[in-house]
Amino acid sequence: MENIEKTTICIIGAGPSGAATALMLSKLKIPHIIIDKALFPRDKTCGDGLILYAYRSLKILGNQLFQDFLKHPKFIHSKKIQFHPNDHHHIEFKETEERDMVISYAKRIDFDDFLVKHFSKTYTKTFFGSGVKIIKENKKGMQITLKNGKQIDAKLIVGADGAKSTVYRNLVKDKISKKLASTFISGYFNNVVLAKDNVAEIRLVYKKVTLFFYIFPLFDGKVNVSLGGRVDLIKKHNINLIDEIQHIIQHHKKVKGKFIHAEKDGNWRGWSIPFHFGKQKTSGNGFLLVGDAAGLANPFYKEGIGTGMMSGIIAAKNIERCVKENNFTAENLKKYDQELKDKFGRLLRFSFYALQVARFKSTFAFFTSLLKRKIESKSYGAIQKRSY
Ligand SMILES: Cc1cc2nc3c(=O)[nH]c(=O)nc-3n(C[C@H](O)[C@H](O)[C@H](O)COP(=O)(O)OP(=O)(O)OC[C@H]3O[C@@H](n4cnc5c(N)ncnc54)[C@H](O)[C@@H]3O)c2cc1C
Repeated sequence: MENIEKTTICIIGAGPSGAATALMLSKLKIPHIIIDKALFPRDKTCGDGLILYAYRSLKILGNQLFQDFLKHPKFIHSKKIQFHPNDHHHIEFKETEERDMVISYAKRIDFDDFLVKHFSKTYTKTFFGSGVKIIKENKKGMQITLKNGKQIDAKLIVGADGAKSTVYRNLVKDKISKKLASTFISGYFNNVVLAKDNVAEIRLVYKKVTLFFYIFPLFDGKVNVSLGGRVDLIKKHNINLIDEIQHIIQHHKKVKGKFIHAEKDGNWRGWSIPFHFGKQKTSGNGFLLVGDAAGLANPFYKEGIGTGMMSGIIAAKNIERCVKENNFTAENLKKYDQELKDKFGRLLRFSFYALQVARFKSTFAFFTSLLKRKIESKSYGAIQKRSY
């Protein structure tokens, strides 16, 4: 059949996790196919903030890529993040004079396209614009059928297709946890009055549930504003995130002043941020999962781009081993699960517990106020350990 494409490795999804997998496989000189249902540039609902593992991943993927990222006219950088556990005190995560930034802001329509534009012409073959419809396992490996009828035969599939992963549903044959996820809305504003140093503002807002409110500035003067929290609690208490975020913008005493002349640009958009890593499968016979498909977002501060990219790098290194051994069995891929646990297990568990404690307003405020100086002074080392 003319319409059948054969490959050893097929990545499904070209967001940051799939793109990082492709870039690392190219570095390792391993040919592969990458599929995305969208055509790039494509947008993705996000807060547009890049921290920690995003920097580390870009650096591992290549110094040139990292330099191109730093020089990109649509990406801006800041040395400061302000986290406000309540309205009385805040914690500052800062960079030292010698280091460049602690957070960068890049609209996903630009950042994801930036990664895709760096794909290798030699090792990466792209099929964009038609989604995966069916995945079947047979004796030879995996058979992927796209909505446009194209068929791709592969020995190994990398599921990089995000929070509602088709790969997960087809190959793990289990439901993705609805409980271990956050639900967020995000929107763009013009004319928000912010400090000049592009500081990131993160606030906890206590309703019947703990909500996380973010203000991230962008290169074109717009601002990305987002709000969300644990999906199960938001559903249980019937919280309407659009009503809540509008209320914060109009009435919150520390926020409203910034939005006096603000104008909304476009609609509110919503999506989920899964954090089920450690509770559900991340690999099996002939497949492995990366990024949101593996539930790898940080439960507390919601970093999902960096953890996703880093998981793509770890995946590619394991794929190199599997290719050499021509062995794509579940048993052989267990090493990938273990390496993910070694890299993220402790951090994501700690973040999950922090999220649990943050539900108790006064306890959390007490501890963050008590430990403020310690957290701030320790943060340099913690950031450097996971960053560039
Ligand atoms: C409102 C909000 C704010 C956030 N803010 C931040 C933030 O500031 N910083 C941060 O680090 N993280 C943030 N996150 C989390 C972050 O967006 C995700 O963790 C990140 O996008 C995960 O990357 P990924 O590549 O795994 O998945 P995605 O970025 O979702 O990419 C998946 C790709 O797969 C493709 N795809 C899906 N299904 C199919 C299919 N069937 N066939 C083919 N292709 C398919 C999609 O088109 C997409 O390109 C936020 C999330 C939300 C919802």
